[in-house]
Amino acid sequence: MARPGVRRIVPLTFGWEHIPKSISVHGAPESVRLREPVPGILLEVDGGWFLLDTGFNTPILLDEQLRRRMVHMGIEDELVGTVGDTIERAFEHVGVDPADVVEVAVSHLHYDHAGGIRWFAEHAPIHCQQRELDHALAQRAPEPQALCRVDFDDHRIDWRLGDGDVELAPGITAVATYGHTVGHQSFVVDLADGGGFVFAFDAADLQENLDGELAPGSVATGDVAEAVESIRRLKAIAAEKGYRVIPGHDPVAWPAFTAEMGCQGPTEPGRLLDPGTARRPDGH
Ligand SMILES: [Zn+2]
Repeated sequence: MARPGVRRIVPLTFGWEHIPKSISVHGAPESVRLREPVPGILLEVDGGWFLLDTGFNTPILLDEQLRRRMVHMGIEDELVGTVGDTIERAFEHVGVDPADVVEVAVSHLHYDHAGGIRWFAEHAPIHCQQRELDHALAQRAPEPQALCRVDFDDHRIDWRLGDGDVELAPGITAVATYGHTVGHQSFVVDLADGGGFVFAFDAADLQENLDGELAPGSVATGDVAEAVESIRRLKAIAAEKGYRVIPGHDPVAWPAFTAEMGCQGPTEPGRLLDPGTARRPDGH
């Protein structure tokens, strides 16, 4: 018999970012660069779709001058294509209308996760940890620490702010995984017909963060032990429920998971997301 929960998981890929591995794995060499997918997840629930994370703010990445302005926060050669918006394109690819999203939750407010909030601000409440939003809004600079103020300082947003672990909807639970940011959260998804997954997002970018219990390279709190503890918590929850933990930005695991869910691509830069269209800040 079906239990209350999520009916279907539809992974989205909003683009790819080219970053030093040292951002993903604590202690990794800066000279090694990885092309990492930027994920989102649609969950089919009563009345529509529940969206986890919203990817980039595409207009910023496609406007040469805005992009140059953001260079200090590491926005360099993200691959997002040039036609339309990443939200539009990712949704179109899976045949879902962004207007049918009834609720949104963001893992944290970095520019590669909160950039699409504006698409949903007028019709869907946005879940986030209270401490994440408080911290982000308290910053005086407009774009510090991979935060892009225009993404989240939006009077239209109907915030639903949690403090620690909280059930967001039947079958969707936010789990506090502080470390990568002060209020990062991951998600446990229970499927109505049994089984489920734990989505780490940036608590564990790569499979090796999970396997080796290695902290993210970027730990905003400075508390590396707390970040490792967050990974252990996710693994413990998954072990107890018999679920797998899906890492947030793994170049191999994410496309594999996408295929496993029956959603082929866009899994590689160069197909839907054309690397030829990525412009570098110096114009080359
Ligand atoms: Zn990220």
